Amino acid sequence: GLAEKLQNTLKNLKGKGKLTEKDVEAAMREVKLALLEADVHYKVVKDFVKKVKERSIGAEVLESLTPGQQVIKIVNEELSELMGGVQSKLNLSSKPPTVIMLVGLQGAGKTTTAGKLALNLKKQGKQPMLIACDIYRPAAIKQLEVVSEKAGAVFFSDEGNKDAVDIAKKGLEKAKTLGYDIVIVDTAGRLHIDENLMEELSSIKKNVKPHEILLVVDSMTGQDAVNIAQSFDDTLGIDGVILTKLDGDTRGGAALSIKAVTQKPIKFAAIGEKLEDLEPFYPDRMASRILGMGDVLSLIEKAQGAFDEKSAKAMQDKIKSSDFTFDDFLEQMQQVKKMGPLKDLIQMIPGVSQMKGIKDIDIDDKELVRVEAIIQSMTKQERQNPSIINASRRKRIAKGSGNEVSQVNRLLKQFEESKKMMKQFTQMNKSMKKGKMKF
Ligand code: GDP
Ligand code: MG
Repeated sequence: GLAEKLQNTLKNLKGKGKLTEKDVEAAMREVKLALLEADVHYKVVKDFVKKVKERSIGAEVLESLTPGQQVIKIVNEELSELMGGVQSKLNLSSKPPTVIMLVGLQGAGKTTTAGKLALNLKKQGKQPMLIACDIYRPAAIKQLEVVSEKAGAVFFSDEGNKDAVDIAKKGLEKAKTLGYDIVIVDTAGRLHIDENLMEELSSIKKNVKPHEILLVVDSMTGQDAVNIAQSFDDTLGIDGVILTKLDGDTRGGAALSIKAVTQKPIKFAAIGEKLEDLEPFYPDRMASRILGMGDVLSLIEKAQGAFDEKSAKAMQDKIKSSDFTFDDFLEQMQQVKKMGPLKDLIQMIPGVSQMKGIKDIDIDDKELVRVEAIIQSMTKQERQNPSIINASRRKRIAKGSGNEVSQVNRLLKQFEESKKMMKQFTQMNKSMKKGKMKF
């Protein structure tokens, strides 16, 4: 990660006091390279570096930080600022229904995002209706119907109608009559921006007067995403952006450049193909992620949502005293399951994203089910004292849970490793609370 590089560049600086121009110059070379490498717009990079330099030279190095960390702190704050600083929420109308229109190129993720957004709003107690206005791709209407159903949202289409504007109007009328408070209009895309597409979108806009026109952009397109956003904003006018496919091998360039270039905020981030994979976009967290510090805040928040503090504390004590048993392991796994896909979670642990090889690890949530079955096939005694699980017991457990002995062996090994890892995690948690978290 960038944080690591900066740390290395600056590690020879000793002592406290003020950052000198020379220290900062060296760091800024790294920052510049890293941002260009991440496919950030060169003009954005130039302005950014200038700003960070101005703030850094002569800055007091805080008591608890090294000069390297002080620079990282400033870079982190400015990265966050570049993406808008604070979270930009949906603009909900005081007079429902709020109309949200999703626009973007083909394949950007509009239809998928429509479903995700509906689910997200449903969880907030809203009643969304999705309107299918992509009449050009044969399967598009059906696709929206499927995601609507999954999200538990109402779906509107007018099959056979060749006029997208008319469909949008009819859908909105129906939503008003039936009292739905959110309307999400899914529109057509093209492979490239063209006049016909823009005209149709403008006409829908004129007729349904959306409160939010959100541009859905694929973050993998890097700097192209910025150009796309710019031209949609110039021709149609957009209120914000939803960045998709942030789970992929994206380098962060789109996230960093869009707000700076278009002045339009990123409101949501899509981080996977599943309906749950949409989250509000938090500039500060994204900044940390880009810096490679791990998304500490998200992790803490998620962990807090799922863990009852007391039981977490009891668990920590157990881990420390090393009488951590398979019963605890099972309980913990059930807690972890509540937090969402393991793979996401692991990536958020500070430092882990920089660990060699960790990106290639594919953690399968189905594995959890298997593990549960194996533990449930153990006797009480075995769970409390895994060291008694000898070869014949392993065989019995394997049979009882419908697994191979090798899978039981693997779990026993994982258990030992997890015990170790939890110990480290506990220590990390402690230093985080004391505010001594190292970058
Ligand atoms: P549309 O043409 O803009 O409506 O795009 P779709 O919603 O049909 O999505 C195009 C493809 O991108 C589909 O295969 C989606 O599953 C996939 N997709 C959308 N959002 C994400 C995301 O956040 N992450 C990943 N990995 N895939 C996504
Ligand atoms: Mg679509």
